[in-house]
Amino acid sequence: MIYSGGCFCGKIRYQFSDGEYLVANCHCTICRKTSAAPFVTWVIMPRERFAFTAGEPGILESSSKGRRLFCRDCGTPLVFASNERNHKIDVTTCSLDEPEAWPPTEDAYTDTRLAWLTHSGT
Ligand SMILES: [Zn+2]
Ligand SMILES: [Zn+2]
Repeated sequence: MIYSGGCFCGKIRYQFSDGEYLVANCHCTICRKTSAAPFVTWVIMPRERFAFTAGEPGILESSSKGRRLFCRDCGTPLVFASNERNHKIDVTTCSLDEPEAWPPTEDAYTDTRLAWLTHSGT
């Protein structure tokens, strides 16, 4: 099974192969600001499972912890590559063609979760 996704404008496309991947909602302030959304849901996988198949993403060094890849044309956030977990790559679930296939099971950085945000599963 191969899953695919890409940015809003379609210039950047990617694929990854199936596996037992953690899916987590991140409530950190950097995810929130760079997405302009209350939180970001990530599928976290070994880097060798993931490949861009079209386009060249822009790179944002969002902190000393890692960098974010996004579409320079339409702005869609696509990937977080951590310097600390450098064998893993985090992919934005909602850039997938079928985000329903990857429901989140965990929440991270809940200390900075927005108070008005009810649990994402409800
Ligand atoms: Zn785009
Ligand atoms: Zn985050």
